[in-house]
Amino acid sequence: MKPVMALVGRPNVGKSTLFNRLTKSRDAIVADYAGLTRDRHYGNAKHGRYEFIVIDTGGFEPDAESGIYKEMAKQTRQAVAEADVVVFVLDARAGVSAQDHDIANYLRRLGKPTVLAANKAEGMTEGAQLGEFYELGLGEVHPVSAAHGQGIRSLVDEAFDPLNLPEEDDAAEQQQTGIVKLAVAGRPNVGKSTLINAWLGEERLVAFDLPGTTRDTISVPFERNGQKFELIDTAGIRRKGKVFEAIEKFSVVKTLQAIETAHVVLLLLDATQGVTDQDAHIAGYILESGRAVVLAVNKWDATDDYQREQLRRQIETRLAFLKFADLHFISAVKRQGLGPVWASIIQAHRSAMVKMTTPVLTRLVLEAVQFQAPKRSGMFRPKLRYAHQGGMNPPIIVVHGNSLEHVTDAYKRFLEGRFRKEFNLVGTPLRIEMKSSK
Ligand code: GDP
Ligand code: GDP
Repeated sequence: MKPVMALVGRPNVGKSTLFNRLTKSRDAIVADYAGLTRDRHYGNAKHGRYEFIVIDTGGFEPDAESGIYKEMAKQTRQAVAEADVVVFVLDARAGVSAQDHDIANYLRRLGKPTVLAANKAEGMTEGAQLGEFYELGLGEVHPVSAAHGQGIRSLVDEAFDPLNLPEEDDAAEQQQTGIVKLAVAGRPNVGKSTLINAWLGEERLVAFDLPGTTRDTISVPFERNGQKFELIDTAGIRRKGKVFEAIEKFSVVKTLQAIETAHVVLLLLDATQGVTDQDAHIAGYILESGRAVVLAVNKWDATDDYQREQLRRQIETRLAFLKFADLHFISAVKRQGLGPVWASIIQAHRSAMVKMTTPVLTRLVLEAVQFQAPKRSGMFRPKLRYAHQGGMNPPIIVVHGNSLEHVTDAYKRFLEGRFRKEFNLVGTPLRIEMKSSK
């Protein structure tokens, strides 16, 4: 499971600037997907040896008593409680304020690993002005400049090094088992627990034991028609002795971790509510994670023709970036439409793990060029020479040649279509990278 870093601090110290700085490298991957809106509070980050989820807690009022602030404070406390490490952001120029002391008290009581980041420290001589932050009683202060990208890498190391996180060997693990790791994601009340209970109550579903599950992950291993699955918890299931029980407690952090851990994510929508912002945000995380995905619209039993038509249109526009995924209309309560969902999950998994050889990829590239050559751009005509597979889950195809930086997005989509058709890839994103030789 990816570790989680929560950014806390009073308004204006630079939390969102730091958040943007930390999540920047991942932004590039998804920049060109139409329709993708991003939740500015949760993101993926990769710095040095660490890949992690970062949460910007926004305006932090740990003791707010009422209204929207109370709800925000609740969510903030939940996020902080679920984080592995807290980065307490301070303003190096403004010095310590009363509110900083309040937050420090809260964090000390929490007893969670915490590092202090004195932001806006560019051009300041270290030590001189930072001394007063020690009175917060939370240890050392790390000068950073979120705006200028200074001290970020060492802040990340300071945050995660002491946690001794287990090394994750993705490649080895993916080869190992043949087990499909599945996460059911969706906002509260879409019917995740109902669906999981319906599944777990199926006769042909047989639970088995899986030794050594990682850090407080709860997963449910089971076999269905000879295929092994591992259902990753999104905070919806709890183990009670030998049986599993679904409980209702939505957690964005658990959802993100489950998405990252899974091979295939089943994204559940509620037919009676349409596609909400929160649905679109969760869909955005799935896209960003590169995981395979199956869409299912639940509570189909409770809709009329008009609602169904509206919904189809909403999905087409708001979730356009997931159009590679199969779409199902189901009723978890009535147990309708569930069979085809399994078929799509297996198909998505197979697609995510596909192996494509260099000769076949190269032949496809050359055939595509013959069918339709890439457009000339000024003096340059891109020349595609060969291709190889650069990764799986999601599959990555690396195309080699000359002047490939001039290949248009439209042409990449054309190539993607041909690759998808040849390898029958459904339900997985497919990344195409262009590599020019000099
Ligand atoms: P938040 O309210 O804690 O999320 O703070 P913001 O990220 O919105 O930043 C508040 C202000 O501080 C903005 O005007 C930023 O441009 C500025 N700021 C953020 N980081 C730095 C920094 O590293 N150096 C300087 N000089 N200003 C910064
Ligand atoms: P979760 O928060 O995503 O786990 O959602 P739940 O499984 O707790 O379901 C939320 C509510 O939706 C409950 O009242 C369920 O009975 C109801 N529900 C779940 N699936 C369906 C369905 O297929 N049709 C209808 N009409 N209601 C459903």
